[in-house]
Amino acid sequence: MSQQIIIIGAGFAGLMAALSAARLRDEKGVSPKDLTITVVAPEPTLIVRPRLYERDPGTMIAPLSDVFAATDISFHAGFVDTIDIERGTVCITNAAGDTDNLSYDRLVVSAGSHGFQPPIPGLADFGHSVTDRDGAVALDKHLHALAERPASRARNTVVVGGGGFTGIEVATEMPGRLREILGVDTPVRVIIVERGQCVAPDMGPEPRPYIEARLRDLGIETRLGSGIAQLDGSGVTLENGERIEAETVIWSAGMRASPLTAQLPAERDNLGRILVDPDLRVPGAPHVFATGDTAKAATDSEGNFSLMSCQHARRLGAFAGHNAAADLLGEPTLAYDQPAYVVCLDLGPDTAIFTRGWSPRTVELTGAAAKKVKMDINAVWIYPPAAEREVAFQNAFDARTVDF
Ligand SMILES: Cc1cc2nc3c(=O)[nH]c(=O)nc-3n(C[C@H](O)[C@H](O)[C@H](O)COP(=O)(O)OP(=O)(O)OC[C@H]3O[C@@H](n4cnc5c(N)ncnc54)[C@H](O)[C@@H]3O)c2cc1C
Repeated sequence: MSQQIIIIGAGFAGLMAALSAARLRDEKGVSPKDLTITVVAPEPTLIVRPRLYERDPGTMIAPLSDVFAATDISFHAGFVDTIDIERGTVCITNAAGDTDNLSYDRLVVSAGSHGFQPPIPGLADFGHSVTDRDGAVALDKHLHALAERPASRARNTVVVGGGGFTGIEVATEMPGRLREILGVDTPVRVIIVERGQCVAPDMGPEPRPYIEARLRDLGIETRLGSGIAQLDGSGVTLENGERIEAETVIWSAGMRASPLTAQLPAERDNLGRILVDPDLRVPGAPHVFATGDTAKAATDSEGNFSLMSCQHARRLGAFAGHNAAADLLGEPTLAYDQPAYVVCLDLGPDTAIFTRGWSPRTVELTGAAAKKVKMDINAVWIYPPAAEREVAFQNAFDARTVDF
């Protein structure tokens, strides 16, 4: 009887999981009729989330139908509402509101993450975000609409909530974006509000001075040690009482794993990620693997763990898909590892910073050289492979075996 692998999500992890499972199926000479691999997601499209802070965010997508067809991967459009691990089924709702149940022999949960919104008064009504496509498109529309409003300090001001990686990338993009929309001579103001005592708190002492200098060069202000307490239609009030008039507030302080992780009987971390076994299996659910932003996995034996990043999602996905297929085909599963860790942080139109290592993080490249690497990563490396069977399988193999 035919066996079925279901993969929830068509993001970086889901794509690599599907291709890796299909690659092993192909290598073992198993027919797609005997082992069906089905990706379930709202659309057969990769949303290139790391580019959602750029201009035209609606275009930051890549179609997947052709690569799925070339590799005999099935696609089922819909949103998984529930996972029943006792029955081995997922319940899916499609865009028309109809529901469907699919059975699985192995399930890969790669439903990603979303921006975390704490209950700050006014945030849901007045805050923007770039963590998902709809939010990024709405922000882009809002920025263009500013040009129609009367000129004022508040109109020309953007507050970015959160000085982590995403906050810095958004903030350093904003001066250029605003001048493009409002006019080159407009006195634009961009302010990062960070509750911690420094920007880029995870970056460490070697890279941080470069980032701080770059913020100063771009005229970006910072408010440290006090978070946003409240938003309204004309600005924000900080926890220390400071008022900033701003018609644009972009919230970029934190991510949470897909709520589907809460349906699985395993321990989760403070981001909602499942603490997976070495082969990415979900403890307590032996037929389920979690991967990408839904999983917290040890990357090495030094005490480091995967982060919510494409770098980790692609490789985690490749291991999870391989292991789901291996489990059904009688092959040993593989323990995930990813010892190399790099960060390439965008710092505006012509500069980035590239670091290597967990702690300390060593700066390898800055300026235009780092920017070139950033553009290669964001516009080439993380995109889906060509819709050619061998190319796609090689891409999935590389994602599992080639480290930075
Ligand atoms: C603005 C921004 C900048 C970033 N910059 C970087 C960067 O520079 N470098 C880096 O490495 N990472 C970066 N990241 C993080 C990176 O984008 C994520 O870690 C990565 O997308 C995770 O991949 P994933 O496949 O786990 O999840 P996702 O890419 O989120 O994909 C999840 C998939 O699951 C689908 N899905 C969700 N729920 C369901 C459901 N219930 N049923 C069916 N399908 C579902 C979604 O539609 C999507 O197809 C950035 C993220 C953002 C938002």
